Amino acid sequence: MSRIFSGIQPSGELHIGNYLGAVRNWVRLQHEFEAIFCIVDYHAITVAYDPEQLRLRRRAMAVSLLAAGIDPNAATLFVQSQVPEHTELTWFLNTITPLGELERQTQFKEKAQRQESIAAGLLNYPVLQAADILLYRADSVPVGEDQVQHLELSRVVARRWNSQFGRPTGSTNEDGTEEREQFFPEPKALLTPTRRIMGLDGQAKMSKSMGNTIGLLESPESIWAKLRPAVTDPKRIRKTDPGTPEVCNIYHLHKAFSPPDTVEHVAVQCRTAGWGCIDCKKVLAESMERELVPIRRRAAELADSPRTVDDVLAAGATHCRALARETMDAVRDRMGF
Ligand code: ADP
Repeated sequence: MSRIFSGIQPSGELHIGNYLGAVRNWVRLQHEFEAIFCIVDYHAITVAYDPEQLRLRRRAMAVSLLAAGIDPNAATLFVQSQVPEHTELTWFLNTITPLGELERQTQFKEKAQRQESIAAGLLNYPVLQAADILLYRADSVPVGEDQVQHLELSRVVARRWNSQFGRPTGSTNEDGTEEREQFFPEPKALLTPTRRIMGLDGQAKMSKSMGNTIGLLESPESIWAKLRPAVTDPKRIRKTDPGTPEVCNIYHLHKAFSPPDTVEHVAVQCRTAGWGCIDCKKVLAESMERELVPIRRRAAELADSPRTVDDVLAAGATHCRALARETMDAVRDRMGF
């Protein structure tokens, strides 16, 4: 069975961008693949953070993921820092990754702009990500669009490592060079139709670090307080102005949360100015409620049962540590250690 791996930072609450871009897909894919999902806490410390908050958020993220439908009987869920091999493989991969490739990463450039002092860890973030994936020799990685460039780097790193350190197979390539074992598969991205969810200001992608999120576990009142003033079609100033659904963030959220006939109805009402934006947002809030109510209920149950969550994470770490050790034995051997 082919293996998938994906991670999420415990740097804040699980939000609907994460859910629609990645986690909802994980829930589906866990039954089709051997699935490993990771709470990537080493990634969460590449920008300023509060250690106490990190401790709380690690468990809170596990609660949210389990409530969203990650099933410990179908998939493995664990915390990155409980498998120290992630950092060891990162070091090995750092030594074969050119600086220029890291400096070109869009996410580094964007995040670096927002920092006064840039930690080397922020630059090396995609190498840690490559190590996360390669440690489990995963074939595919279900992520949102923002991660596609990082994943391309993981593919390049895998290719480079294989060609430098893979054992010769004894055959030759078409170009006459020595063929080497493909120890690390080149991981492929698995994208969803909702691969990029914008923040409610319509300015940037929804992200924990931007403070423009709707949390998966937020109360209906709090969600409505954010939806009500959210940016829609900028050309629709009066209620009587016909709108263009395709340019409206709220319409895209309808496509993610509402049934197809509602989505069609919303588009017609928008184009003909039958509904105002508030009417449209009310229907969206109802659709979101339908999906989020059971998630909130499961999260409340899990929050009352910390032992259950800790047991899931401990079992996940034990399983992943065994896989990681196997990979690292081979990596150390091929690299002369
Ligand atoms: P964040 O940017 O909120 O910190 P992470 O870096 O932890 O999110 O990403 C977790 C997963 O969620 C990744 O697969 C990422 O591609 C996906 N993701 C994050 N933000 C969005 C978004 N706005 N739209 C779609 N997918 C997203």
